[in-house]
Amino acid sequence: MKILPIFLPQMGCINKCVFCDQRSTTGSPKVPDLSQLDELAKDYRLSLGQFEIAFYGGTFTGLDETLQLLYLDWANKYVMDGACVGIRISTRPDQIDERKIEFLKAHNVTFIEMGVQSFDDEVLKRSYRGHTVRDIENACKILKDTQMDFGLHLMIGLPADDEQKDLYSAYRVVQSGAKTCRIHPTLVLRDSILSQFYASGEYEPLEIDRAIDICSKMVGILQSRGVRVIRIGLFIPSDLEKNIVAGPYHPRFGELVKIDLMKKVVSYLKPDKIFYTPKQRSLLRAVNLQVQMGEEFGFLVSGRFLKWNDALAEYMSGGVQDVRTAEKGCSAKN
Ligand code: SF4
Repeated sequence: MKILPIFLPQMGCINKCVFCDQRSTTGSPKVPDLSQLDELAKDYRLSLGQFEIAFYGGTFTGLDETLQLLYLDWANKYVMDGACVGIRISTRPDQIDERKIEFLKAHNVTFIEMGVQSFDDEVLKRSYRGHTVRDIENACKILKDTQMDFGLHLMIGLPADDEQKDLYSAYRVVQSGAKTCRIHPTLVLRDSILSQFYASGEYEPLEIDRAIDICSKMVGILQSRGVRVIRIGLFIPSDLEKNIVAGPYHPRFGELVKIDLMKKVVSYLKPDKIFYTPKQRSLLRAVNLQVQMGEEFGFLVSGRFLKWNDALAEYMSGGVQDVRTAEKGCSAKN
């Protein structure tokens, strides 16, 4: 389902995270007024018929309740007329409690996207997140107990981060009960605090090949265990790319990650043939295999057909040592 995204730049945030600079990525420092939003919604209704409305870019549950109501009442006009089939909000773990969730449910919010970034306390501290892993655990428990569907957002390459912590975080997302995950590598954005650390030599971003490698392993962990990865890499409109000071940015970062993961699976399983659907067409160039259009994406391995998810599960349960170590760390924790 298509999403009508409404950006409330850093509204409701109780602090400024080290990497964040919404102005650099959305170009819009202003809060949209309701008449502008009506115009947008009418365009969406005309071209799509139905859509979801998402309030992104800030901490929705950190806003004053009157302001939350203003936006939710506006969105509910479109729920009532059948155009809007779901309302999403984004928030952070320390701004979630039972009362806030019941309030959102009473106003037809159906999905919560929660930025957690890492399951490592040192990374959270050095990224000025202002919350701990315990806060993430509490928030996920509340969301599960109140039966509110949710997705988590992870980042790699933050200060004090490393690959093992990233893979461990991916396993923790699986355990959390999240339905979806977004992953993006840390970029140094123009007016972020991180840009000062970068200028002073205190922070060094990941190289792009490294970022692709780590993200593809994380996607493997998540997808093979049923968490839908709905975004890989930060979306930045081309006219705002000038705001990226440094870091592993590529406009097709997500595709590069998917190609890397497919190459890893192919190199492990050594299939004879790949079956593809129109969705995978752009990935096929990357592997030197016999290809055939099929009803489902998968591989022919020694005479048996393996669907993509099964192939992925087989690869992940094979000898991928760094992934194994992270999984053990996660099992020991629980
Ligand atoms: S990352 Fe999220 S919580 Fe942190 S400042 Fe940006 S919008 Fe606010």
